[in-house]
Amino acid sequence: MQTHYCLQCETSKPVEDFYKDKNKSTGLYSHCKKCHGAMTSRWKKQNKTRNNDINTQWRKNNKSKVAASKRNYEQRHPDYVARKYKRIRDWKRRNPMRVQRWNNRRRSRKAFGVPQRWVKSDCPDNLCYWCGNEISEQTRHVDHIMPISLGGQAVDSNEVWTCKPCNLKKHKRHPLTWLAMQFDNQYDSHSPHVNPPQQHNGNGWQPWKL
Ligand SMILES: [Zn+2]
Ligand SMILES: [Zn+2]
Repeated sequence: MQTHYCLQCETSKPVEDFYKDKNKSTGLYSHCKKCHGAMTSRWKKQNKTRNNDINTQWRKNNKSKVAASKRNYEQRHPDYVARKYKRIRDWKRRNPMRVQRWNNRRRSRKAFGVPQRWVKSDCPDNLCYWCGNEISEQTRHVDHIMPISLGGQAVDSNEVWTCKPCNLKKHKRHPLTWLAMQFDNQYDSHSPHVNPPQQHNGNGWQPWKL
């Protein structure tokens, strides 16, 4: 059996216990794998920030490797994956408005093929844009004046804060259709959630079909 002498632990060990080093005449490291591991962990302990920097940089340069290792880990740990998705589901349940905004943004991107900058507009007066009812940060909805399905974009100029009932009732309507509904005599615009919007179909006024 071919052996090699380790200068660290000062013992002779089989060559398989040494890493290869092309620059050495022997072609092997002067210390064994075990000693190498100990030296490395000692260095890492003494140079924590430097080590973190190196790791961060490596992860940045090897994104595909990081993703593959993540995939591999998840395949071997189905319980971890289940916990992870439960966490995501719970977060979505707690943050329905964030999910809605995210979905709107995605729909907008899909419709226009161009990623758009998302600027959060504030709600200084806390009043619904359409009905003027008071809204809170918890209850308000983002409404697109021109619906995304009709070509509106998810940009600040096309977004208003509204109450939940207005947003849901307006749905995919053209803003002019919606405004006509607001100002119709048959329709009390001050309480749109109590009186459902009506439409004239020749036989009298009928509730709008959403
Ligand atoms: Zn050794
Ligand atoms: Zn409203």
